[in-house]
Amino acid sequence: MTDEDCLFCKIVDGVIPADVVHETEHVLAFRDIGPQAPTHVLVIPKEHLASLDDATDGHRALLGEIMLVGRDVARAEGVSETGFRAVVNTGADGGQTVHHFHLHVLGGRAMGWPPG
Ligand code: 5GP
Ligand code: ZN
Repeated sequence: MTDEDCLFCKIVDGVIPADVVHETEHVLAFRDIGPQAPTHVLVIPKEHLASLDDATDGHRALLGEIMLVGRDVARAEGVSETGFRAVVNTGADGGQTVHHFHLHVLGGRAMGWPPG
């Protein structure tokens, strides 16, 4: 299930290249093109899911896997001991610009709070 107009579906399909760091049957993790921290990886479902607000109970296992892949990416990047941030921007006020669900995994520097 891919959306032909979706940027991240094109990355899943290999039409647009990405620096992939982790892949499972259902999930892909690749480096953000505009990193906001020394480690900035996006973890996405291979199937098109526009946002967290579009998720259903049927996505429960997939969303759980995405979180655990985020954990594994943080460990592999060597940022889990110093800490990291996992964030899902959703909708306009959430700052979502790519409408294919993605978990940002950021680490390697201290993060501020609250977000701007
Ligand atoms: P959002 O603002 O939707 O939460 O995050 C979208 C992220 O996708 C941004 O951090 C942006 O830098 C990243 N991004 C946008 N286009 C591309 C691309 O073509 N390749 C990669 N690897 N990341 C992208
Ligand atoms: Zn998509």
